[in-house]
Amino acid sequence: MSSPTRSKSEAWLRYSDDLGLGPFYLDRASQSTPEVAAPPDSTDAPSFAERSERAPEESSRVSAPDHSSPALSAAAPRRAPEPPPVNKPTAPPTFIPAAPAPSLFESADRIEGDTLDRIRVDIGPNCTRCELHKARTNIVFGVGNPKAQLVFVGEGPGRDEDEQGEPFVGRAGKLLTQMIEAMGLRRQDVYICNVVKCRPPENRLPEKDEIATCSPYLFRQIDVIKPKVVCCLGTCAAQTLLNTNQGISRYRGEFFDYRGAKLIATYHPAYLLRNPNAKGDVWKDLQKVMTLLGLQPKRR
Ligand code: URA
Repeated sequence: MSSPTRSKSEAWLRYSDDLGLGPFYLDRASQSTPEVAAPPDSTDAPSFAERSERAPEESSRVSAPDHSSPALSAAAPRRAPEPPPVNKPTAPPTFIPAAPAPSLFESADRIEGDTLDRIRVDIGPNCTRCELHKARTNIVFGVGNPKAQLVFVGEGPGRDEDEQGEPFVGRAGKLLTQMIEAMGLRRQDVYICNVVKCRPPENRLPEKDEIATCSPYLFRQIDVIKPKVVCCLGTCAAQTLLNTNQGISRYRGEFFDYRGAKLIATYHPAYLLRNPNAKGDVWKDLQKVMTLLGLQPKRR
């Protein structure tokens, strides 16, 4: 199968899965839709949500316009589409890991005395462990507070990130920064990184083997930082850290125990740029994180 066809098929399958139509190899008729808990009381609208209401056209494209999505319009530029928010759920949450075996991360011991510098050195300046090295400009290691209470994990660098060597600096990154600030934090207060550290060509989804090769460094980063909360941005991060094939709609907004931290998955900012209506759901998720961290929303 050609690479574009494969990317499109993957995106379509993911989209179907997120809508509860898949997977096509497993009968999940008995599974129920996860409950999205009510957000903590707060009527403060985040500035990132306001922006889109004022100028939705600003949010119709993202920083890497060469990524196509079969489930959305031809102009939809980047990576696997995430689903529209699910309707008000009725059943209790379910979470079924794809594989009964522990993930690579869970089975690995923490590395005694590990540091972010050591991880960076271990990766090396010229990593060629997977195919992604061929087209990358910079390895995008991660940025932020090495003792952050909150870590955001995205999918992989886009074009801007590849050029600048820093995660989330394109349009999706600017929205992420607004989200962080709406939480009453600054970008430098949190830690931001990705599942893979090199840009997938054409902003395709990272392949399984690329994720398997690169994610142990992410796991080590999280281990070293020891955040209170890990917030997965989008399906790729959520599926990687939760070791599941399940679509994000099934567990978005739920907290999971993750190596001493609480893990929550929410929609990717790039998805929000295409679907501003989902910003309310993301704000609810971020409010849950804020409650856990004892944060007050930014005063406007
Ligand atoms: N999208 C991601 O998932 N990560 C980035 O760093 C930028 C965009």
